[in-house]
Amino acid sequence: MYAFVRFLEDNVCYALPVSRVRDFSPTSQQDFDNQKVYTVYRNPEEAADEDDESPGEWGDRLLLHKAQILALAANLLPGAEQKVVFITARVHPGETPSSFVCQGIIDFLVSHHPIAKVLRDHVVFKIAPMLNPDGVYLGNYRCSLMGFDLNRHWANPSPWAHPTLHGVKELIIDMYNNPKINLEFYIDIHAHSTMMNGFMYGNIFEDEERFQRQAIFPKLLCQNAEDFSYSSTSFNRDAVKAGTGRRFLGGLLNDTSSCYTLEVSFYSYILGGTASAVPYTEEAYMKLGRNVARTFLDYYRLNSLVEGPLAPTPKTWKDKVPHYKCPAQRGPGNSHAGGKPDKRSQAHLKEPSLPTR
Ligand SMILES: [Zn+2]
Repeated sequence: MYAFVRFLEDNVCYALPVSRVRDFSPTSQQDFDNQKVYTVYRNPEEAADEDDESPGEWGDRLLLHKAQILALAANLLPGAEQKVVFITARVHPGETPSSFVCQGIIDFLVSHHPIAKVLRDHVVFKIAPMLNPDGVYLGNYRCSLMGFDLNRHWANPSPWAHPTLHGVKELIIDMYNNPKINLEFYIDIHAHSTMMNGFMYGNIFEDEERFQRQAIFPKLLCQNAEDFSYSSTSFNRDAVKAGTGRRFLGGLLNDTSSCYTLEVSFYSYILGGTASAVPYTEEAYMKLGRNVARTFLDYYRLNSLVEGPLAPTPKTWKDKVPHYKCPAQRGPGNSHAGGKPDKRSQAHLKEPSLPTR
């Protein structure tokens, strides 16, 4: 069993075996207290050294870390192939909405929601929420401390000039080379300064089946998220985007992998069937993140595993969520997979059933 823990010293979340949480022996997935502070070992060596340390003390090496448990997940079946979804955000430091979307994804995945529990038991999510921390710290709009647009250096990142990018790329390549891991999704979250709604960029492949398969996730997301536009979603291989994560990893990973840039407007979204723009709020960005996470339940056809009826959207929700159509007619329009409008995206859709926070 794995515990999703948040370390208090740096407010960073990890998924670790529960054996690293001292004095914690859950008998079920409900059996934890997310208010209590536990001692958690960050790595196996720390646990092995425990007898040499004074319990509860913060030594010079910070061997005993304080953390809260947010959620639990079952072990994947022995020998089962790990399905991995890798998500990154904030490679462009000025695109603050991407952090709220990413926060929505993380909060949902570690929540008590029945969908989140099923997802935790079947899919491994690896998330790097801030790819350009020095740029964020300095208040840069697009570049790192050294003036690089990191999203143009995926092809050959330097450990000295682009250390965060280099580290994440190494991790992704390690996973790609591990036969027990199937890296099925890479999603890089950005914010867009001229377009409306949320939408995606994907890759173009010669293999028609692969090309068409890439359209599935954004179509499903369009059904779950009122602000996500499949019409604005496009697929390209522009030379100017060659160094981006989505383009580079789309060329590197095998044909079962899908790589996307998820864009969300800095400003507003237009609900299908209306002409008025709804300004985005921080909460609306996080809701998009929650809907991104829940869409993996549909993609992997895990719906039958969700226990009990799904909770309706709480009435505390500030935004009115009427029955809606997917937003349409606000994008490049001629570069969709298959080249045709998606009929399902025009249909009336039910409200998303996600909690608010
Ligand atoms: Zn960007």
